[in-house]
Amino acid sequence: MLRWRRPSLPDHLSLAGRNVPVVATRRATARAVKLKANSIAGAIEISLPPSGGEAAALALLNSHRDWLEARIAAWPRPIPFAPGYIIPIDGAPVLIDWQAGHPRTPRLESERLLLGGPAESVAPRLERWLKARAKADLEAATHGFAARLGRSVARVSVGDPASRWGSCAGWNRPEGARIAYSWRLILAPAFVRHAIAAHEAAHLIHPNHSPAFHKLNRELDPRAQDARRWLARHGAALHWVGRAL
Ligand SMILES: [Zn+2]
Repeated sequence: MLRWRRPSLPDHLSLAGRNVPVVATRRATARAVKLKANSIAGAIEISLPPSGGEAAALALLNSHRDWLEARIAAWPRPIPFAPGYIIPIDGAPVLIDWQAGHPRTPRLESERLLLGGPAESVAPRLERWLKARAKADLEAATHGFAARLGRSVARVSVGDPASRWGSCAGWNRPEGARIAYSWRLILAPAFVRHAIAAHEAAHLIHPNHSPAFHKLNRELDPRAQDARRWLARHGAALHWVGRAL
């Protein structure tokens, strides 16, 4: 007996010289099949309705092959945390200069980041060092802006969110708000990082994006607009730093 079999979606597609994962997710609210080339995750994302949709998704993948190819060709290239690679720090190129004889703790010397210790742990040590540097810098900038506004901040932390550079929670708590940033801002020029800190600090007064918020944000940091433009252009690439080839 011949039975109809549900078509299955590929795990990966080979496009623009890359092996790109295909991630399908069922969404309760999805009516139709949707296709997205996510330049931050580095994946082709398909949203499916609560049931079925595989055949439509396959047809969409086929009919949009050229479109996907063009999008993926424009994705940033991964830059691993490995000896000999060049990563941005404060928006400037820095060579990862690993040598067994260098000190274990990374040390930045103009365009070189000197570090020693075991070669296998270069990546996690470098990431920890960048996160600590991001936290120290963003903490100082945030407390500086908050002090100008006469507000206090209970906690500044760094994480690795995919879609936001900063977030501010509990703006009206008496003990102060909690502000979180992407550690990847340490890779961007200082003016970008500090504009994000000014944005989050302005939320201590206005928990919205009203005209009053934007006015205060500009008073705290006149380069807010330039920073947004910089991130629109270069932000996705920051997500490919420290990613394996
Ligand atoms: Zn905001």
